[in-house]
Amino acid sequence: MELEFKGACREVGRSAVLVDEKLMLDYGVSPGENIQYPLNGSRPEAVFVSHAHIDHSGAVPNLMDLEPDVFMTPPTFDLAHMLAKDTLKIAEREGEMPAYDPIELTRFAHQTKQIDTGVEFHTHGYDAQFFDAGHIPGAAAIYLKDRENKSLFYTGDINTADTRLVSGAIEFPDSDILITESTYFGDEHPPRREVEKQFIDSVSDTLDIGGSVIVPAFAIGRTQEILMLLDAHGIRAHVDGMGVQAYRIMAKHPEYIRNPTHLKRAFDNATMVNGHKRDSMRLESTVIVTTAGMLNGGPVLYYINKLYRDPKSKIILTGYQVEGTNGRMAMDTGNIENDGVIQHLKPKVEQYDFSAHSGDRELKEMVKDFCDRGTEYVFTMHGDDCEGFADWVKEETGVQAFAPQLGERFSL
Ligand SMILES: [Zn+2]
Repeated sequence: MELEFKGACREVGRSAVLVDEKLMLDYGVSPGENIQYPLNGSRPEAVFVSHAHIDHSGAVPNLMDLEPDVFMTPPTFDLAHMLAKDTLKIAEREGEMPAYDPIELTRFAHQTKQIDTGVEFHTHGYDAQFFDAGHIPGAAAIYLKDRENKSLFYTGDINTADTRLVSGAIEFPDSDILITESTYFGDEHPPRREVEKQFIDSVSDTLDIGGSVIVPAFAIGRTQEILMLLDAHGIRAHVDGMGVQAYRIMAKHPEYIRNPTHLKRAFDNATMVNGHKRDSMRLESTVIVTTAGMLNGGPVLYYINKLYRDPKSKIILTGYQVEGTNGRMAMDTGNIENDGVIQHLKPKVEQYDFSAHSGDRELKEMVKDFCDRGTEYVFTMHGDDCEGFADWVKEETGVQAFAPQLGERFSL
């Protein structure tokens, strides 16, 4: 098997691995000020998409000129398609050159074959199967076996621990080659129950004194997780932004949700806000869960504009804040840029780790388990310390491990 690493090499973002010059595993972009793409020049016959986050799916429409077969789970297709449409809409509104045109987006929809996790299928000379990856609804790890019986397992983004929204990944096949994400190598998550308790305490304290809480959250996964958590503690929230649309998609795929009844209850009990309704909202002892999770655009900026002078209120970040984003600036300096104006935030800014990735311990356990069952090569990607992870694998298991550089090729 030939592997060529086209992105997410010793970095987080723009995941892309080319197998035997014809199968592409993920094709994402790096979000942030300057969007980055995988190395170009690939002409895949088939594309497998692990999940809908744009750092895994965001550039797939760019590959449509050769009309490859595209495979993903049904929720991943619906969510990725929603994001791709939104990308086009934003480009049009901002007068920017979109990365792909509506025709390519239509082709993307036509070329996609939706395949559930657990279903074995055969394509382009390979046996293939998606395995549940936890992480977000529809997220799948990708398993391939070629004609010589050489097998490969690509984790995508994986979480072996349960969250409120999705069950953790539990089933893994034997595989000769393992390509693993490395996001939280060397970083242990605090126990989720403690994080949840601190978050709820912080929200309640703010509401008690008449302040409001803005909870910036990614549309896919985090918005739903936070609403379920608030609902479980009897806190009625407002929800605004694409997280509502993402919820409606998820509700159509209950088999990919850990507890669809709880998810539905959380949204039934929440107040959905959009457009003109925003202006009539009273921002007093109110919780608003909204996009964007890193404060780069979206309705969250509307709410911050209303509340940035209110020291009783709070902004509670629920995810990792990439360097160069407004969210990172808020954490580091207490300022954000809102519509060209630098605003100094009077509300306290807090951050809680609601990660949907395996932490250090779970990642290591997973890799060890693969190596114990005969994996011969491990590749670490999608992380800040992929080299450290590869070294750890070599020392701990004796199995050959590599942290590929951008564009590096391997013949196995
Ligand atoms: Zn992801």
